[in-house]
Amino acid sequence: MIIVMSNTADEAQIEAVIKQIKKQGLDANISRGTERTVIGAIGDERKLDGELLEALPGVEQALHIVKPYKIVAREWHKEDTVINISGVPLGGKEIQIIAGPCSVETPEQMALSAQAVKDAGCRLMRGGAFKPRSSPYTFQGTGYEGLAMLREAADKQGLPIVTELLDIRHLDKFMEYGVDVIQIGTRSMQNFELLKEVGKTNVPIILKRGMSATISEWLMAAEYIAASGNHNIIFCERGIRSFETYYRNVMDVTAIPVLKKATHLPVIVDPSHAGGKAWMVPALSRAAIAAGADGLLVEAHPVPCEAWCDADQALNPTELVDLMGQLRGIAKVIGREIQ
Ligand code: PEP
Ligand code: MN
Repeated sequence: MIIVMSNTADEAQIEAVIKQIKKQGLDANISRGTERTVIGAIGDERKLDGELLEALPGVEQALHIVKPYKIVAREWHKEDTVINISGVPLGGKEIQIIAGPCSVETPEQMALSAQAVKDAGCRLMRGGAFKPRSSPYTFQGTGYEGLAMLREAADKQGLPIVTELLDIRHLDKFMEYGVDVIQIGTRSMQNFELLKEVGKTNVPIILKRGMSATISEWLMAAEYIAASGNHNIIFCERGIRSFETYYRNVMDVTAIPVLKKATHLPVIVDPSHAGGKAWMVPALSRAAIAAGADGLLVEAHPVPCEAWCDADQALNPTELVDLMGQLRGIAKVIGREIQ
């Protein structure tokens, strides 16, 4: 059972609910989100009287959720959650396109990237400082220097930043740099300790789907973050493994409506890591937006053939502008908008 406290509930009211749960022989998980506190009752729920809990002051609703994921479930939160990313809304009527290079390379490359992202009309910028590469002998990212380069270039254009966190030990520095969105990559989706740690912050999290993860596993991974207190989670479909080798991954379009039904949280798509080739990105992007995605995470580079990482899949500045134009048309048809 989850007990959703009203957003005006005070500490004493939260304590009274916990006391009541414990009195009935169950344990309580307290998830203090920025908007509201959600208390999960752990144990034999048949012992719990929901009506009694609902009668307590400060309780908005007490409901039994059958699914193993609870806080992220749409069942208790029928409306779409809109996440505020340093002033940019994600999950509402406005679709957000997050663009930027796979990896942060040099100050010049970052300045040109940020300019291109801004000129195309995107409101958020991506860039990896720590790169999870398949081979230990390839470029591993520019690390903290990269983080500084990303921050500086994006700040000049007034763009909030998205960057991947690979290791708990980097989290303090991410907070110091005021990373606006922490990306958890496909390879880390089930790194539960990492999920718990980012769950203790209130920084919005992009949780990419594990390349072989089922929808349920993905939802449960998000629940780890939510259970620790961070309810600002954005799901990102980035393609899954299949028998097909012609392209990098299979973009699971079906996951978009399925997730939108299962969760109140925003769902975005990364068409770049799905296709793996720049020429596939526009078609995949159009499909994702038409299917109801709340945004995209797209790789773009000032000179793609010179990119240090994922050169084949990066859009050049002209292609990014062109893509934005196409997506604005689709957004309009489905009653949404792109700035
Ligand atoms: C990335 O976004 O640069 C990245 C490494 O993505 P993924 O985790 O989806 O492979
Ligand atoms: Mn990449």
